[in-house]
Amino acid sequence: MKVCRCKIFTRGLTHSCLNCGSHTLFPKGKYFQMNARCESCGFDWEGEGSEGHYLRSTSLNFGVTLVCYLFPVLMFVWAGWISALTGEVLAFAGAILVPLLIFRSARSWALMNYYVFVSQELPANFPTKTGESEPKETSPHNTSLIR
Ligand SMILES: [Zn+2]
Repeated sequence: MKVCRCKIFTRGLTHSCLNCGSHTLFPKGKYFQMNARCESCGFDWEGEGSEGHYLRSTSLNFGVTLVCYLFPVLMFVWAGWISALTGEVLAFAGAILVPLLIFRSARSWALMNYYVFVSQELPANFPTKTGESEPKETSPHNTSLIR
């Protein structure tokens, strides 16, 4: 297997293409857009089933915001370190700003989270014609590369 789970993990954390490692996940200058495919290797991460990817990244974004930001603010209020009004202001502002700040990371993490479990579905990990068998199942993300 060319791309191991460790590489998928590090590439996902650095917003890189999971297949080849180039930084082509997002176009330059457009924060809320994601390229449909890798400009370097052609890996189609927004092929069929991309609705599921968007839902996964949105859920991940909300979960990270809740656990890593809103819950600590609530604990600070509960412990008496900040006032309830300050906590409400921080929670309201953070509930809007944190998801915007981690938008790109959540998109990349969602892809990483999917392919770290099915790393054999990355095109770089497809068997070669030197004797290995063809993959039995394919992901909806990479069906265009198989044809
Ligand atoms: Zn690539």
